[in-house]
Amino acid sequence: MKDKDIYSVKMRASRNVDGVDKHISGAEKIVDKDDIAACVGALVSRGLNHEKGNADFLNIKLEHVKEEIMYLDALPVTTIDVETWQDGHKEILKFLNEMNLRNASKILEFIDETYSMRGAMLLDVNILERLEEDQSRGIRATYMDAARDNNEVLSVEKNHYMEAIVLATKVSYCPGMVGEICISDDPGYVTGYVASKECGYRRITKMKESGSENGGRIFLFDSTKASISEAIDYLQNKKVLVRNVKPLNFKEKKDPMQVLKSVTDSMKENNLYRTMKTLETKEGVHIKIDGKEYVLMASNSYLDITAHPKMIQKCKEVLDKYGVGSGGSRLTTGNMDLHEELERKIAKFKNTENAILFNTGYVANLATISAIMKNGGVIYSDELNHASIIDGCRLSKAKIVVYKHNDMEDLKNKIEANPSDFSMAVSDAVFSMDGDILNLPEFVRICKDHGVLSMIDEAHATGVIGKTGHGIVEHFNNTVSPDIIMGTLSKAVGGEGGFVAGNNILIDYLRNTARGFIFSTSLPLVTVASDIAGLEIIESEPVLVERLHENVKYFCDYMSDNGYAINSETAIIPIIIGDEKKAMEASEILMENGFFVSAIRYPTVAKKRARLRIAIMSSHTKEELKRAADILLGILVSA
Ligand SMILES: *Cc1c(COP(=O)(O)O)cnc(C)c1O
Repeated sequence: MKDKDIYSVKMRASRNVDGVDKHISGAEKIVDKDDIAACVGALVSRGLNHEKGNADFLNIKLEHVKEEIMYLDALPVTTIDVETWQDGHKEILKFLNEMNLRNASKILEFIDETYSMRGAMLLDVNILERLEEDQSRGIRATYMDAARDNNEVLSVEKNHYMEAIVLATKVSYCPGMVGEICISDDPGYVTGYVASKECGYRRITKMKESGSENGGRIFLFDSTKASISEAIDYLQNKKVLVRNVKPLNFKEKKDPMQVLKSVTDSMKENNLYRTMKTLETKEGVHIKIDGKEYVLMASNSYLDITAHPKMIQKCKEVLDKYGVGSGGSRLTTGNMDLHEELERKIAKFKNTENAILFNTGYVANLATISAIMKNGGVIYSDELNHASIIDGCRLSKAKIVVYKHNDMEDLKNKIEANPSDFSMAVSDAVFSMDGDILNLPEFVRICKDHGVLSMIDEAHATGVIGKTGHGIVEHFNNTVSPDIIMGTLSKAVGGEGGFVAGNNILIDYLRNTARGFIFSTSLPLVTVASDIAGLEIIESEPVLVERLHENVKYFCDYMSDNGYAINSETAIIPIIIGDEKKAMEASEILMENGFFVSAIRYPTVAKKRARLRIAIMSSHTKEELKRAADILLGILVSA
């Protein structure tokens, strides 16, 4: 680059989240005049199409650089491979000791204070005092870029690694600067670095727990060697181009499989690692694992009809007639009369005009939400919604506004604060880990008043709530109807598959746009048969739903009468324990006593909100429920 017509180009993109301006992307370049157009175009496109969301606001700042540019050689890079973040922190201490800093461990403690800052902390290493004028923002080093040869093409691809080298190099040449510590705030990026003129740029492969957003930067400054104002002026104003910035040497990269392993290893460290239990029996009230019998109190098969004689009979008939695989998607050759019969049955069961079948409830949510919201708009989503709803929202092009759990006032406020020409609100009907029921009348009323589509997920409502198990609309005496009723056939219904029920316009739209419907082979007919049989059994044997309601009431009353007040109108009864390890231990005690109850942990529920999730079935006997309650009471009292 010739030092003649040189410009600094800066880009900053942000989005408006709940009325607050949130940074999503920023970058800076130092370029020749001839490259400005290309550079600005590329930076605008980068800011607008960021993985963190589309920008609502984008600022480009262009400045003619009149003063002399400082050229520096990039710091040499070494990589230190560590197994755990604790080892990573030991490497930081080692670095600080090499820098002859007496207060190494005290210095490291300051990193906690950087987590909420956008800029870096400027720490005086002698007196351990922070020197930034604005301690909430910190110091930003700016005006720097990688130097390019005359014939090198301008690149504005985001390369965090190369940008970090440029920054670390500029910072290390700052007057009075001793070194730098940097941990990324990107939850997926655990590699960080320490850097100084003497030690170079030292990548440390693990500096924090994976998934953590706690990251920050400390500039280590010695105020006996330079004045603070000189240092800040250098960091904020000196134009620096760094020569010989090379992309990461691929040989230095970790084996990708080791990267995966480090994730599961860290889950093990934090009691979040999962293993599967192997059932040697059907899914029913009595199961066998490793030869030992248990009473199952963890199943979503609330009516215990997965092996109901009518279900088996129907499946056998269909198996004989159709075989198994359907061989195509519904829109090609995989649409059989039975698929359509099931859809008619679902529509009738949910009292809607029409229905569409998906292969699972998970896909139903993904495909439906992403298809309806594919052109943007706003989705208002309950903070405790199921993962499949969250993933559906993520796949859509909509802005996602999360409202407080089952808080209709907050929903209304969020709708009014984030208006849109096209929007939907979505909620579990029965919350899968808390067992409470959506305030449907208010939910639908607020949606209608504001012209918002209303969608509910009846995975744990179908076959469970309402006098005859028809779900949340029946629970509220058939007085309200949401626009979109999603559900699954794999829980109380006892088969497998997801569905959406609604009016003809909705179903017609989904058949033509829902990618999870269009691009996936339809359900095998044996499964369709099981779904049809399941719905028929619920209709023809109302005693199943009645018994389920009785059992829930019996269990809650017994627990409450004996000192632990609980209440549930659904089949799900959460017993909040809090600590992940304690929840696991409680589940183990129940296992030892012959009861299978799941401990539910992060990420299914929030951290430190681990719980036992009791799931009642219509086939539990009173005696079994009483015994389970007694053991539970023992655990809860001793805890
Ligand atoms: C289980 C569940 C689903 C997914 O249904 P599958 O048929 O199991 O894929 C969707 N939403 C909620 C609330 C669920 O609990």
